[in-house]
Amino acid sequence: MVRELFQSFKKDANGCISRNEIIDRLRQAGITPDDPRLGHLWAGQDASDTTGEQLLDLAGFTKLCHRNEDLLARAITGELVIPDFASFTADITEIYDSLLPDKRGKVADYIPQLRRVPPDQFAIAVCTVDGQRFTIGDVGVNFCVQSVCKPINYCLTLEGHGADVVHRHVGREPSGLGFNELSVNGNGLPHNPMINSGAIMSCSLIEPSLDIADRFDYVADTWRQLAGGSPIGFNNAVYLSERQTADRNFALGYFMREHGAFPVGTNLIQTLEFYFQCCSVELNGAALSSVASTLANGGVVPLSGDRVFSTDTVQKCLSLMSSCGMYDYSGEFAFTIGLPAKSGVSGALMLVVPQVMGIAIWSPRLDSLGNSVRGIEFCKQLVAKYNFHVYDSLVGDDQGSKRDPRLKKNQSAIEGTMRLLWSASKGDLDGVRACVASGVMPSSSDYDGRTALHLAASEGHIDVVAYLLQQGAELAAVDRWGGTPLSDAEKGCHTQVGKALKRATDSEAASTGAGKQTA
Ligand code: GLU
Repeated sequence: MVRELFQSFKKDANGCISRNEIIDRLRQAGITPDDPRLGHLWAGQDASDTTGEQLLDLAGFTKLCHRNEDLLARAITGELVIPDFASFTADITEIYDSLLPDKRGKVADYIPQLRRVPPDQFAIAVCTVDGQRFTIGDVGVNFCVQSVCKPINYCLTLEGHGADVVHRHVGREPSGLGFNELSVNGNGLPHNPMINSGAIMSCSLIEPSLDIADRFDYVADTWRQLAGGSPIGFNNAVYLSERQTADRNFALGYFMREHGAFPVGTNLIQTLEFYFQCCSVELNGAALSSVASTLANGGVVPLSGDRVFSTDTVQKCLSLMSSCGMYDYSGEFAFTIGLPAKSGVSGALMLVVPQVMGIAIWSPRLDSLGNSVRGIEFCKQLVAKYNFHVYDSLVGDDQGSKRDPRLKKNQSAIEGTMRLLWSASKGDLDGVRACVASGVMPSSSDYDGRTALHLAASEGHIDVVAYLLQQGAELAAVDRWGGTPLSDAEKGCHTQVGKALKRATDSEAASTGAGKQTA
């Protein structure tokens, strides 16, 4: 494989390839220079090379590939999950540009630290399950995660205790109420882990035997791992403000304690403070996209290959993000967007496209339900372009123009044509019908100009020929050797097919002639 990869690059007079060309090809595939998996590739140029362009022979290239051959090979041969990454990122850029002028909504103002955030900042960051990355806008600016900490904390509780124990303390139904409503379910438990009461409960369950400082370190370390190497911060001013203005969260804590919802031995004040600390974790858009991509990837960080959560944990977390992650817009979000997501009052939104990518959107202006205005609009435009809604797989080709970015360029057209030609040549009428029904054009041709009608005619499959004629397949199609369906039938001595094609040609000529006369 390494030899074939090497051959695909331009060579100089000595048969060497340029490291810069490798880097360019990787960049096009979405593998960026700060990718921690390929640090050795970008590191230092050869000092003896005055052109600044290090050249590699096959042995040098083999050595380079040694550490991560699979990733290099898949990137170079266009086998990553979004093969045409450039087109995909062009679409993301277009959506970003279209949303920049949108100034609707207001920043959260319950604490001064959020009230003071410049409201027009906007960042989008994408990280696929193969670690292809794209960022646009204010992606280097840190923001606090706020409620986006809730799914991560829920994952930590599942990892620590298993779902049975966790759900003795927290439900898993949407509440139908505001995110900080003073309410418990019929069992006296918080409704789910994605609202404040449930998130406070999660905090009571995370490493309860550890010292409070070590419990926070544990959470921060988890964020660090999920971020795939991007830095993670803590906003102390946000934490202090949250603590000072936390009457409702304290009320929720006491209310749940009154119902006996907490694990035995829970220190309520420490638990609440721990919750405010978790909300005050800071990161930037690029880092949050890595977190989201880890959930998309079943718990393994794409950028490091480290498993942070089990697939079982992630499956449960994504289920609750799907039903409860977007405040009082959760049902509407599940209906229109059809993807798991979690937003926070800082304007952060973490969107997960399972097995494909994680996307972070950050724009601080919020709508009346507390979701980022641009964040929601971005999600709407994304699923209008791409078939990411969980039930898009049920929608037939007749339902419009949504694209599948997991396909290679022209892949679906090529595959459709190949299926049609193959079925036609085998005389598989059902197969031909199925292709046409799924939107493949009856006259589509391969590289040599061969159509389904050519192939069915040369093999003498009269029923397929009759069907294709009825579907308006082009009679006069000429392949690269000058052959038509009729000449193919004659060459193969398929008299019946020949007759059918002649009849169709004559009647086409007659109707064209009649058309001419009328005109
Ligand atoms: N720190 C906020 C609270 O507990 C979180 C708000 C949010 O992002 O929903 O009130």
